[in-house]
Amino acid sequence: MNIDGEHARFSAPKRPIVFVLGGPGSGKGTQCEMLVEKYGWKQICAGELLRAEAKRDSELGRMIKEIIDGGNIVPGYVTIELLDKEIQKTAEGTPGILIDGFPRAFDQAVEYEKRIGEIDLVVYFSCSIETMRERLLGRGKTSGRVDDCSDVIESRFRTFLDTSMPVIQKYSAQGILNEVPSEGSPDEIFESLCVALRRNELLPS
Ligand code: UDP
Ligand code: MG
Repeated sequence: MNIDGEHARFSAPKRPIVFVLGGPGSGKGTQCEMLVEKYGWKQICAGELLRAEAKRDSELGRMIKEIIDGGNIVPGYVTIELLDKEIQKTAEGTPGILIDGFPRAFDQAVEYEKRIGEIDLVVYFSCSIETMRERLLGRGKTSGRVDDCSDVIESRFRTFLDTSMPVIQKYSAQGILNEVPSEGSPDEIFESLCVALRRNELLPS
């Protein structure tokens, strides 16, 4: 690869924004954390931002809590505003931003593009429902998340298949979807993630 070209890319003021998608328990959070640790990217987890907001004693907080506890999706305008604030706060020199777990619905993808702009790449962690269920039930023992219990997990799977899959199909049709099979160990999946990012010149080779 051309060193000048790479320099130009990494010193550009606009840093790449990558959407990280996949079903609940597909490994989005784990993989984002590994990339933060190894390459200094910034992770913005939509679910975390919403959970923080849900703790507030306000009408909005209560509305968000109810939606999350039912395994449903918070309206896009709420999430996009939280994401926008977090993107603005990104420290100078951060090589890239990972948006973990958003967009969850087709209209949210469209609204994000309208309000914030185009994204550079989409990573999709593909995983069987059986594996995701096993991981979530395991995580539920210690996560303290109300939605990591059996009936909400099933509702989150339904929401993912019915409402979030069209987002993945949209990006696939646009040719910016990078599918990373995520049945393996965290290290194996991370290796495939890095290959995908390098192929798209978002990580140094
Ligand atoms: N959520 C949402 N919009 C988003 C991201 C998350 O409404 O853009 C809600 C949704 O109810 C989801 C929950 O937050 O089930 C947890 O999301 P998170 O990404 O933290 O869970 P994961 O998929 O990683 O298990
Ligand atoms: Mg997560």
